[in-house]
Amino acid sequence: MLLKIWGARGSIPAPLKPDDIHQKIMTALQWAGEHNIDLAVALDKQRLIDKLSLSGGTAGGNTTCITIECGDDLLIFDAGSGIRELGSYLMNGRNEHVRKLGFYRGKGHAHLFFTHTHWDHIQGLPFFAPLHVPGNSFDIYHIHDHVPDTLAKQMDATVFPLRFDQIQAELTFHQLKEGQLLKIGEAMISNAELKHPGKAYAYRVEADNAIAVVATDAEYKSLDNTDTLKYRNFYGNADLLIFDAMFSVRESFVKQDWGHSSALIGADIAGEANVKRLVLFHHDPATTDTELMQIKQGTEEYIQSQGLNIEVIVGQEGFEIELKNPTAMTDFHITEWAKNGIVFLTLSGKFGGQATERFRKHLARSLQTHQVNKVILNMDGVSDMQMAGIQALVDARSAVMSLALVKLPENVYRVIELSATTDFFAIYEDEKSALTAFNSH
Ligand SMILES: [Zn+2]
Ligand SMILES: [Zn+2]
Repeated sequence: MLLKIWGARGSIPAPLKPDDIHQKIMTALQWAGEHNIDLAVALDKQRLIDKLSLSGGTAGGNTTCITIECGDDLLIFDAGSGIRELGSYLMNGRNEHVRKLGFYRGKGHAHLFFTHTHWDHIQGLPFFAPLHVPGNSFDIYHIHDHVPDTLAKQMDATVFPLRFDQIQAELTFHQLKEGQLLKIGEAMISNAELKHPGKAYAYRVEADNAIAVVATDAEYKSLDNTDTLKYRNFYGNADLLIFDAMFSVRESFVKQDWGHSSALIGADIAGEANVKRLVLFHHDPATTDTELMQIKQGTEEYIQSQGLNIEVIVGQEGFEIELKNPTAMTDFHITEWAKNGIVFLTLSGKFGGQATERFRKHLARSLQTHQVNKVILNMDGVSDMQMAGIQALVDARSAVMSLALVKLPENVYRVIELSATTDFFAIYEDEKSALTAFNSH
C-alpha cells in the first residue's frame, strides 16, 4: 500500500509567512558563511538546502488529509484543506497514474473516511475538485451519526456559494459501527474510538501484509497500562502509526480534555505496541519547522534512551511511503492439478481463518472447471491447522462425493484428533492409497 500525506497541520491551516521564508534563508546563509559553503559545488548547494530545516522544505500548512492506495482502490482519510491539493493532483490528466484513476474525466471512484467533523478535518471538502465532476463517485464512511448533516451544513448558503446537494459526483454514505471490520478489495479496515471532544475514530488498514494506522485527534489522559491497552492493541505491530503529537508533554498535562497528545507519549505507546514508524502529526499551527525538527530529535533521543527501535517521521505534506512486507511462511498457498476425474489440491502454510475463504473459492472453482466431484487434498505443507481450517474441510466434505486427506503432518493430524473430527474424514498416507480406496468403492 502506498501512503501519502496531503495535510499534517491541526486546528487551522497555517501557511508559511513571508517572514518565515526570510528567516529560513537567513539561517541557511549564515550557516553557509560559517561553513565555507561553495555555491559552485553541487554537494555544498544540497547541504545548504538541507539546512532550511525539514530537508529544505516545510511540514506544510494544510490541515489533515491522508491517502492510502491499495491496488486499484484509493482510500482518503479526512478532508482538511490538504484535500484541495489532492484534488488538484487528481485533475491533472498529464500524469499517467492520475489518468488511470480517471477523476479528471468523470470516471474516478474513491473511498473517503472521516475521523470526525472538526473543521480541520472537513474544511477542504468543498474545494475538492473531483467532487464537482459529474460521473465521479465516492463512498463516504463515518461512525458519528451527524457526518452527512455536518458536511451539508458547511456548504449552507450563508457560508458557501454552492450547496452540498449541488455536488455533481455521486456520494454514498455508509455509517460504520465502532469496531466494524470493512473489506475493500484486498484491504481490511477497522476502527476504534479515540478520546477527543465529541469523539474521534482511528482507522487501521491492513494490506500487502503491512499495517498502517491513522490515529489523529486523540488524548491519552491516563497513561496507566490498563487505560492504554485498547490503543496498544489497535496500533499493534503497525508498520506506520500516524499519531496526534500536537502538544508537548508539558502541554498535554496542562491542557487536559483538549483532546490531543504529544510525541513522547506516542513513543511510549508505539514502543509498547511494537510499531515500526511513528509519524508525528496534527502539528500545532504555531509550531515552526525548526521546532518540529527539535521535537523529532528529542523524540529520537527519548526512544534511544528507552532502548527502543522506532523510526520517527515528522508528518509533512508530500511525504510518501510504500508499505509492503514479504509474505510470511505462514501464508497459505494452494496448487492444483486434475486427472481422470479427480482434482488434486496441495495446501501449504497456515490453514486458519485467514485462508479458508480462499480455500472455499478455489475448491468451488476447481470443481466447476474440471466438472468432477472427487478431491484429494495433500496437506504435506500445512504448517498449522486451526478450527477454521477444520470447519472448511468439513464443509468441503459435504460439497463433494469423495474427499480424501493425504500426507497429514503429525501436528495437523493431532489437531484433527483434538477437535474429535477424525471420523469425518477419509485419511490416507499418500495419493496412491487414496486412489486405490476410490477405485475399490
Ligand atoms: Zn483536528
Ligand atoms: Zn478534533
